[in-house]
Amino acid sequence: MKPINQSQRQQNIIKFDEDGDDTPMMDSEGSSTVAPVAASTTDGASKGLCFISFGSGSSGNCAYLGTPTGGILIDAGINPDVVLPELARNGITPQHIKGIILTHDHKDHVCYAYKLVRQNKHIRIYCTRRLLKGILLKHKVSSRIENYQINIYKEIPFRIMDMEITAFETSHDGSDNMGFMIEWEGERFVVGTDMGVITPRAEYYMSMADHLMIESNYDSQMLETGHYAEILKDRVRGEQGHLDNVVAAQFVASHYHPRLRHVFLCHLSNDNNTPEKACDAMRHALEAQGISVGDGSNRVGERDCDVQVFALPRYVSSPWFVLA
Ligand SMILES: [Zn+2]
Ligand SMILES: [Zn+2]
Repeated sequence: MKPINQSQRQQNIIKFDEDGDDTPMMDSEGSSTVAPVAASTTDGASKGLCFISFGSGSSGNCAYLGTPTGGILIDAGINPDVVLPELARNGITPQHIKGIILTHDHKDHVCYAYKLVRQNKHIRIYCTRRLLKGILLKHKVSSRIENYQINIYKEIPFRIMDMEITAFETSHDGSDNMGFMIEWEGERFVVGTDMGVITPRAEYYMSMADHLMIESNYDSQMLETGHYAEILKDRVRGEQGHLDNVVAAQFVASHYHPRLRHVFLCHLSNDNNTPEKACDAMRHALEAQGISVGDGSNRVGERDCDVQVFALPRYVSSPWFVLA
């Protein structure tokens, strides 16, 4: 069977503004034009710590982090009609997904949360009460979503199977905003997305990552000279907006430690960034510290580098990464 190609995938994508509000919340089945589920090509469930992103940026965010026991989805802004077939291709069934963790209540992070749990009733949504209230207030979604929620609190670790997860405050303009540190067998995966600045609490957790998913939203020159209205430019570069490529790069370079092995650049702007600019900024900052940088592939000459840097695609899935 054919894999989903980019044009098929783009038909399925709702175009949002930068975390924008111009599209109705998806509370119904919706229509699907995606290719049928292909036969499994790998048995992802038998590997160690695995990661895949199904899309990243203002058009929708969702990623899977899994262990041999099961896995979680990080945000729910991509249609399950895309997410579940992609997981199936990697040997992961919906039963493997035990929970969804949500970073904040902007549509590009939550718009398919209810559809996911309604169709897969064993999955629970782990989020703060304030975040859930934000979803119910801002978006057209059934209040039955509350039946699937498990309350969490920032900086109080909780468990989903064998993963220990700690939410931490981030600086953004959702109703409640957080990143997560996810620990499994001594490996630390940290996600920090949608943040105008890296606050001291976010710095504390993000600097401990062995595998870091960090926002690299915009190139300041492109934002400055681009077509956005001044008010939107101010919002993006504001303290509760999004993260500049150079700020993300300087943060990683200045907090580098030898355990850091993967840096996934996420939430790249379509209008104010390119994957090349984001990766170049990160590469230059790391190489200036004498750290060798691979491209995330398994090619000879790349895989032995100190750290792998990979920009998550906006509209299509990333490769399947076995992190540890
Ligand atoms: Zn976002
Ligand atoms: Zn946001």
